[in-house]
Amino acid sequence: MTSILWLRRDLRRADHPALVAAHADGPVVPLFVLDPAFFDDAGRPRQAWLAHTLRALDEAYDGRLCLRRGKPEEVVPEVAEQVGAVSVHVSTETEPDGAARDSRVQAALASNDVAWVETGSPYAVTPGRVRNQQGNPYRVFTPFARAWREHGWRHPAAEPKGLRLRAAESDDTAWETLDAAAGAEELPDLPTAGEKAALERWHAFLDEGLAHYATDRDRPDLAGTSQLSPYLKFGVLHPRTLLADLPGRSPRGADAFGTELAWREFYADVVHHHPDSLWHDLRPELSALAYDDDSELVDAWRAGQTGYPLVDAGMRQLLATGWMHNRVRMVTASFLVKDLHVWWPVGARHFLDHLIDGDPASNNHGWQWVAGTGTDAAPYFRIFNPVGQGTKFDPAGDYVRRWVPQLRHLAGAAVHEPWKASDGYAHGYPERIVDHAEQRAIALERLAASRSAH
Ligand code: FAD
Repeated sequence: MTSILWLRRDLRRADHPALVAAHADGPVVPLFVLDPAFFDDAGRPRQAWLAHTLRALDEAYDGRLCLRRGKPEEVVPEVAEQVGAVSVHVSTETEPDGAARDSRVQAALASNDVAWVETGSPYAVTPGRVRNQQGNPYRVFTPFARAWREHGWRHPAAEPKGLRLRAAESDDTAWETLDAAAGAEELPDLPTAGEKAALERWHAFLDEGLAHYATDRDRPDLAGTSQLSPYLKFGVLHPRTLLADLPGRSPRGADAFGTELAWREFYADVVHHHPDSLWHDLRPELSALAYDDDSELVDAWRAGQTGYPLVDAGMRQLLATGWMHNRVRMVTASFLVKDLHVWWPVGARHFLDHLIDGDPASNNHGWQWVAGTGTDAAPYFRIFNPVGQGTKFDPAGDYVRRWVPQLRHLAGAAVHEPWKASDGYAHGYPERIVDHAEQRAIALERLAASRSAH
C-alpha cells in the first residue's frame, strides 16, 4: 500500500522517523508542496537556499521527489488520490501557521479516508512535552534546559532497509519557480546545500571546533561556531543526530553546544504555548514603552551605515551571506531597539527577510530577549555598548575589517573607534548617526517610565 511522505522542515533522508513510519506502510512517494503563502514570505535569500536544498533533496531521494505548487489542503489530497495513497506521513509541525495548515490538510484527507500520521518533529523533544512538576510549561530558560536534558530524546532513526520510492509527476512550474529563485540577482553567497555538505560541516566542527567552542563561540572574528543553523532551519540535519555525537567529546564544548541547541528547543516550546508571542511582546511590562520610527535611521541600520563599526559589520555580513554571528545579532538588535528606540518586530522582520536560517521562533524570541520583552527575567536595563562589544569580542578588529572595507586602513582595535583616528573617515565611512551614551540614557528613562506605568 502506497504512502506519501510530505516533507516540510525535515528535508533529509537520514535519521528520519516519519520516513521510517511511511516505509512501514509500503512504497513511499516523497512530496514537497511549494506553498505560496510560505514561500512568498521567505525573503529572496531563504527562497534561494530552499531551492538549492530541494535540488539536493531530490538527489537524495534518487530523483523521485514529487514537487507541486499550490495550497497544501488541495495539493496533498490530490496527490494522494493520484497515487492511491492510504496514508500521509509527516513530522509534527508545532509553529502556529504550520500547525493551522496541517489541521486543514488533515481534515481534507479525512474526508477521503486517507490516514494522517505524525512521527517525530524538527526538535529533539517535541515542543509541549517538557513541563515542570505542576505540569506547566517553563518560561525561563535555565530550568527548561535542565528538564529538557532530563527528559532526553530518542536515538537517531536508522534508515529503513529496502526502501521503495515511488515517483509521482512533479509540477514543472514549481521547479521553474525554484530555479528562478536560485538564479536571482544579487543573492548572498550561500553555503553548499544538502545532507552531505551539512554532515561534512558537522564532522569538521566536531574535530576542529567543538573543543574550543565554549570560549570561541562569542568571537565573530573566529570561525568558532558550527554554522549549521541554515541546515537546521529546513531539517537537513536533525538536532538529535548532533546530540548523539556529543558524548565522548570535549565535555565543556559538548555541554555548551547542547545548551545552544536547548535554546532552539526552548523558543519553539515558548511559541507552541504562546503563539501570539511571535509578533507581540511576550510579557506586558514594557507595553507602554515609547518608540520612535525614523525611517532614515532605520534604513541606515539596515544598510550597515550607522557609523558604529561592529553594528555595520554585522548588518553587512547579513546582506552578503544571509547569516550573522550570534554575538553580533545581539549587538545589532540592541542598537535598533535601545539606541534607535524602534519596536523589535521591525528588526525581526528585516532579519527574517535576509537570514537563510530565518526561523520565527529563534529569531523573534532572540529579538524579544534583546528588547527585554521576552522570556528573560529582568534584562530591560541591559544595553549593549557597540564599541565595548567590539573591543571585547573582536579584539584585533579583524571581523570589522572583513566586512567594512572603508575601515581596512585602521590597524588593530583602532578600527572600532574611527572618530579617534585622524584618517578614520578617509575612505568614506559614515559618521555616527546617533550618540550611544545619549541614546542609552534616553532608553533607560523610557524603560523606567514604562515599567512604572505598568
Ligand atoms: P552554533 O553556536 O554553532 O549553535 C548550534 C545551533 O544551536 C545553532 O545552529 C542553532 O540552531 C542553535 N542556537 C544557537 N544559539 C541559539 C540561540 N541564541 N537561540 C536559538 N537557537 C540557538 N537562530 C536561528 O536559527 N534562526 C534565526 O532566525 C535566529 N535569529 C536570531 C535573532 C537574534 C536577534 C538573535 C540574538 C539570535 C538569533 N538566532 C537565530 C540564534 C543564533 O544567533 C543562531 O542560531 C546562531 O548564530 C547560528 O549560528 P551557528 O549555527 O553557528 O550556531
